[in-house]
This record gives sequence, C-alpha cells and structure tokens, in this order.
Amino acid sequence: MADRLRVAVLGAGPGGYPAAFLAAERGMDVTLIDTRPNPGGVCLYEGCIPSKALLHAASVVTEAREAEAIGLRFGAPTLDLDRLRAWKDGVVRGLTGGLAQIARARKVRFVQGRGRFVDSHTLRVAHDGELTEVQFDAAIMATGSSPSVPPPLRLDSPRVWDASAALALPEVPGTLLVVGGGYIGLEMASVYAALGSRVTVVEATGGLLPGADRDLVEVLARRVAANVGQVHLHMTVQALAETDDGDVHATLAGSTGTEDVRFDRVLIATGRRPNSADLGLEGTRVLVTPRGFVEVNAQRRTAEPSIYAIGDVAGEPMLAHKATHEARVAVEAIAGEPSAWEPPVVPAVIYTDPEVAWCGLTETEARARGVDIEVARFPWSASGRAAAAADREGLTKWIVEAGSGRLLGAGVVGRGAGELIGEATLAVEMGARLEDIRLTVHPHPSRSETLMEAAEAFFGTSPHYLGRRG
Ligand code: NAD
Repeated sequence: MADRLRVAVLGAGPGGYPAAFLAAERGMDVTLIDTRPNPGGVCLYEGCIPSKALLHAASVVTEAREAEAIGLRFGAPTLDLDRLRAWKDGVVRGLTGGLAQIARARKVRFVQGRGRFVDSHTLRVAHDGELTEVQFDAAIMATGSSPSVPPPLRLDSPRVWDASAALALPEVPGTLLVVGGGYIGLEMASVYAALGSRVTVVEATGGLLPGADRDLVEVLARRVAANVGQVHLHMTVQALAETDDGDVHATLAGSTGTEDVRFDRVLIATGRRPNSADLGLEGTRVLVTPRGFVEVNAQRRTAEPSIYAIGDVAGEPMLAHKATHEARVAVEAIAGEPSAWEPPVVPAVIYTDPEVAWCGLTETEARARGVDIEVARFPWSASGRAAAAADREGLTKWIVEAGSGRLLGAGVVGRGAGELIGEATLAVEMGARLEDIRLTVHPHPSRSETLMEAAEAFFGTSPHYLGRRG
C-alpha cells in the first residue's frame, strides 16, 4: 500500500489521539508517538480526568456535610487514601487502556518514546536506549504543555508540587499553600480542602480566575472563602525554602509588605507553557513565537508545509476540547480539504464547587472592546430546581448584541454549570437570538431552564423572577 499517505502524530493527548484515529479512518498509514505507555496525554494521565475523579470525591464529602441543613446528618468521613488513589488510578487505567484498544482496532501504530524531528519528513523516537525512525508525508505536532514555574518558586523538592504531583495524591497535608488562583489552583484547592487540608490560595492579580466575568467569580469566591480556606489577592510568593523539620517556608509579598509562613506542602499552579523546545525543530522550517507557541495558519499548518501543530503547543486557549477540534481541521487539511479553524466560540469550564463556565464573548471583554451589548441574567435563587436540590447560589447570563438580539456569549456559575454551557455554546455557534432561547421549551424543573428564564427575564416575562435586563 505504498500510495497511502504516511502520517506521524507526535503526542497522544486529546489533540493527538483523535488526530491519529481520524487519519486512520480516512485510510492513512498512521504512527502515533508518545512517551507514556498508552494514548491519553496529560489530560487523561495527570489532568482533566484524575482531577475530575478527585473533585467527585470532594463533592461527596461536601454534600454529605451540608446535608445536615436538610435534616440528614452523616458522621465525619473516614478517608481511605490508598483506596481513593487506587479508584482514581483505575479510572485513568480504564480510559487509557480503552484508547490503546481503539488504536489497535483502527490499525494505528503506537510507538512509545520521545520523538524529535530529524528533518521535514523524519522523526526519531528514543525509548529505553532504542531508536526508531518514522518517515512521514505529513506530521501533526500535538506535544501539549507543561507547568510554567516562576524562577523564585523553582525549588526541587517533593514538598513542592505541580498539578501532576498533587493529582498523584501522595498524602493529605495539614497545610497547603496553593500559588495561583486559576483553573488548576482552584480545582486542586477544592479537592485538598474537602479531604481535610487547611488551604491558603495566593493570587497575584486582584481576583480569582482572571479573565472570567466578576459576577460569576463572586459566587465562586464566596464558596471558596467559606469552604476552601484563606484567599490572598494581589499577593505573590517571593521565595520558597525547605526547613529541616519537613516544612516549606514561603515568603508572601502583598500590598502590606512581606510575611514568612510555613506550610506542609506547596502547589504551584501559575500557568502552563507550550512544549515546543528540544523537538529538533531547528532541522525544519517550523517557526515558534517568543512565548514558545508553534506558529500555524487556519489549517493548523506550520511554516514547514509537511508539519501541522494542534492543541496547547499551537496557542491559547489551552483546553482539551479545542485540541480535539483542531485535530479534525489538521487531518482534513492533510486530506486536501479546505478545512479551517475558525470557531466562533470555545467553551471553558472550571470544575470547582460551584462550577464556573462560559463561552463566546464575556461581558468584561465586550465592555473593554466597546461592543454594544445587553445582558440577560437569571439568579438561581429564583429556580425551583436549584431550590429543591438545596443548591447554593448560581447565576445564568447571556451576552446579547444590542438591537439584533443575537447571542454573543453566555456565562453560568452553579452546580452543573459545565453541563449547561453545552446548550449555550450550540446557541451561540448557530447564531441564535435571545428570542429563540425564550421560545425553546425547556424541561421543568431543571437547571437548563435557567437559560430560558434568563431570556424570559430580559423580556420581562419570567414567571419566577421580577428582575429585567441588566
Ligand atoms: P491559569 O492561567 O488558569 O491560572 C494561573 C493563575 O496564577 C492566574 O490567576 C495568575 O494570575 C496566577 N499567578 C501567576 N503567577 C503568579 C505568582 N507568581 N503568584 C501568584 N499567582 C500567580 O493557569 P493554571 O491554573 O496553571 O492552568 C493552566 C492551564 O491549564 C489553564 O490555562 C487551562 O487552559 C488549563 N486547565 C484547564 C482546566 C479546565 O478546563 N477545567 C483545568 C486545569 C487546567
């Protein structure tokens, strides 16, 4: 079958493995390369999936504790750390093993090892002292990203964790300092606080989750203050040092000066950087931006015509579902189709308690750019489903183009917000207007109904909420 297009995919995360499977489905001769034993990448092995398993455990603990308010008292949970870890590892093993089976069924050749480009048509893969050469007509770089640690926080110590170390669940420290109040910091702070750690979150900017709308974040921030621990805004960590008695000494710097505090463990969650270094790109024409992202066009093709790049290494947002969609574009482009990456909307979800989710244009962005918008809001205090489920606070909002009523974006905070944002994403993607949402029959009672109720409230016709457009 010498006429089959040979495609090499470097990196088997949620960008790489869908790319390999799609290419194989189209009859291409595919080699998928990754350092890990099975496909899955950071997302399945040390990111999205294990964090969601641990967040599930955290939500069980919190719900059991809070059930007292509705007349159900459970005893304090007994934590069997080994069993929790084994369950979480089993979830990961099941999913990554499943992907390996799919790869075999689709006749994708999986090569374990670290790949480097030799030239624009050759990759060399090293594993356990063995070298395998892979020739390709087209390659897709899907090498992902790694934690980016500011120089003062680079302390090589088992007491200082990155997300992977925290997700390994080695122990539940008495005190945990979380540096960074973004996606990873807040998700892991929720987990360790529920398991029993006293958590302190330090965030450099003036608010948690920079980039998200403040009315959504305020709801989360109240829960974090009540359930997770102390949050210090406008604060950075200037230095970390190990102490002889097994602690870490952190120098915290804020507007009122510096302070030295001891913690059992420290988690650094200050962002991620693209994995574009040490890949042999100098042997190709691939170009990399000063921040390390591989430069690509709308087809995800790099400056080297035979090499494509997708996922975290190809630019923000660093989200698994964005990588998976880029995989489709790159494979279609390799097949010669005029496919392009131009989605009007990519959703984002932070799986904290409560979840925060948004898609499309945020209110903050719209106001900053001077876009003429109106906002439709519905607080969950007016939702029957939320009340009957003893949900705490929540808010659903639409960002609407003034005049036309076209939906430009949506935001949700509340239990299950990550599920609701799917409908909102579809509505924005399809060019729906707020009126369409208002006229769509939603199940009652449900949290999804808050999307319709926000539209009803905007037009002053909500049966459950007196508020109007905001
Ligand atoms: P992030 O960009 O979400 O948050 C980093 C936070 O650290 C920011 O709030 C930033 O202001 C703060 N910060 C930076 N330097 C600091 C310092 N020296 N001291 C104190 N605070 C500092 O990054 P992350 O949480 O590390 O996550 C990385 C990426 O991984 C995210 O951007 C996201 O794309 C992805 N991710 C997604 C999910 C999800 O989809 N649910 C979950 C985890 C990670």
